[in-house]
Amino acid sequence: MEIQEAQGHGHLVLVPYPLQGHMTPTLQLASILHSKGFSITIAHAKFKSPKAFDHPDFNFLPVAENLSEHHIANKDRIAQVSIINTKCEAPLQESLTNLIKQKPQSRVNCIIYDTVMYCAEAVASNMKLPSIILRTSSASSFIAYCAILNLPLEDCIPLKESISQELVPGLHSIRFKDLPASNYFGDLKDLLNLLGHVSKIKTSSAVLWNSVDYLEHDSLAQFQQQNEGKHCFSIGPLHGMAPTASTSLLTEDTDCITWLDKQATNSVIYVSLGSVATMEESELIEMAWGLANSEQPFLWVVRPGLVRGSAEWIEHLPEGYLETIQGRGCIVKWAPQKEVLAHGAVGGFLSHCGWNSTLESICEGVPMICRPAFGDQKVNSRYISYVWKMGIALENGFNRNIETAIRRLMQDPEGQQMRQKAAALKEKVKLSIDKGGTSYNSVNNLVELILSL
Ligand code: UDP
Repeated sequence: MEIQEAQGHGHLVLVPYPLQGHMTPTLQLASILHSKGFSITIAHAKFKSPKAFDHPDFNFLPVAENLSEHHIANKDRIAQVSIINTKCEAPLQESLTNLIKQKPQSRVNCIIYDTVMYCAEAVASNMKLPSIILRTSSASSFIAYCAILNLPLEDCIPLKESISQELVPGLHSIRFKDLPASNYFGDLKDLLNLLGHVSKIKTSSAVLWNSVDYLEHDSLAQFQQQNEGKHCFSIGPLHGMAPTASTSLLTEDTDCITWLDKQATNSVIYVSLGSVATMEESELIEMAWGLANSEQPFLWVVRPGLVRGSAEWIEHLPEGYLETIQGRGCIVKWAPQKEVLAHGAVGGFLSHCGWNSTLESICEGVPMICRPAFGDQKVNSRYISYVWKMGIALENGFNRNIETAIRRLMQDPEGQQMRQKAAALKEKVKLSIDKGGTSYNSVNNLVELILSL
């Protein structure tokens, strides 16, 4: 691979975790640092490669990890992390060693890795290279994950109904039912192993959060307090700071923008459960009727594979459904989400509350309906609905409530208040990325730190 010469500051290697929600912020951070004069190499697992042609300024270094989808297909998400790290560590080190041999004059200043791709920390340490951690989820969910280590695990994972509504001691606003792993039924050893890896900073020089001080001040302060003396930078929302090259691993259907152009302002509810969450067929059908009965126009991302255990697409929808919603509903496989949320016709977002989706909605001032599935999504949902008050959480079960929730958000005065809250947050976040704002300043401080390593 030909390394593009550094434009000024030197050379950084970024190591993403091979999932959309992790790849996106890593590429966005790479764009920001490239704009600051660093040349960039993205060292990525080969079995899920980003689209190199969308990022002509970066070098892409595929790691020959010998993995394929079938190695991880039937494993839970936490076991997948362990497999990917185990398989990637040696080939990552080999690839980086070759890269450095190829051009010894192109000094690697630092390896920046997604916290879930923790094998990169070991590689950096072996190679005597400085490293920095990128955390792609919210600081609040991270604090909640770490709190699990101090709880009697058998009571809260999986969750005991008797304590589900109680607040977790030491966690601001989070109930036991909101804890990231409360619906985890896998091997607790795997979970503790993962927490052991990601909760420590070890040899890395700093932690970067794709977050905003205004949104998560208390959690960020708590983290800083727990890690006194370590550099922590909240530099988000990264998509707001970075130029807008597409980071999608899937092909975006842009026809939905033409459809949105024909809809009234703030009338459309946009529905997407992100790139990983799945549902039962019965849930999909209930969601379909909830959307249809709300009588609100909707744009719905139905990913092929959204129904658990099936690779099909809209084949699962009830007979006659597409005719029923004609003109009022638009269904796509994958949307240009940031463009959709920025469109004036979109007035609400029914989301699984992945952290990228949450930040993207806040940045466009779009209030939300929260249908979290697992992991950090439940903490994010709690923040959206209870702390920031810019959304409605679908609590007990979900689908039959969808129709009511959509009406509450899109038609009732209560929804109007949430829209105002979302608009106010949008302004605060904008201030943080404008010149002199907290995230803007943190990026500059980060550049200084990297140059000092
Ligand atoms: N996304 C997209 N098109 C879609 C659905 C999602 O581009 O149809 C993007 C979305 O903008 C976000 C990412 O996929 O940046 C999903 O990340 P998130 O953290 O919200 O959820 P995850 O997929 O990791 O569960």
